[in-house]
Amino acid sequence: AYSYDDQNIFAKILRGEMPAMKVYEDDKTFAFMDIMPRGKGHCLVIPKAPARNLLDADPADLAAVAATAQKLAGAAMKAFDADGVTVQQFNEPAGGQVVFHYHVHVIPRFEGVKMNPPGKMAETNVLEEFAEKLRTQLAAN
Ligand code: 5GP
Repeated sequence: AYSYDDQNIFAKILRGEMPAMKVYEDDKTFAFMDIMPRGKGHCLVIPKAPARNLLDADPADLAAVAATAQKLAGAAMKAFDADGVTVQQFNEPAGGQVVFHYHVHVIPRFEGVKMNPPGKMAETNVLEEFAEKLRTQLAAN
């Protein structure tokens, strides 16, 4: 059995107990900027319902997250004039998971540009600028 800890950072973001740079929200999903981006415009999509990861998530929530990731990927391609998008998702510590609320990474990619190393905080004003670009593109779609 996989247990869900409702004190995880994304649960706190969903409850409004921790700030996040929101990009998109609907009934079932929430999307926001990753504070340690692996690339320009890196954002995260999470279900609003509690789920530790892929292994215990409700399939309907997985589908909703996939649909939101698709929206963000399309918006990112246009907003940043990206050449591609990398979508990543990690499960359990051995699988590379660090935050234990199911999430999908959406990372815009550019020809010849490698992903940034993990664990480096981005500046708030830079993240806010990218978030605004994504919001504007989503609103135009
Ligand atoms: P994963 O669990 O998929 O390996 O990684 C968790 C991701 O969440 C990392 O990319 C990390 O940068 C991001 N992250 C960790 N803490 C926070 C936070 O407090 N706010 C935001 N927006 N992202 C976070």
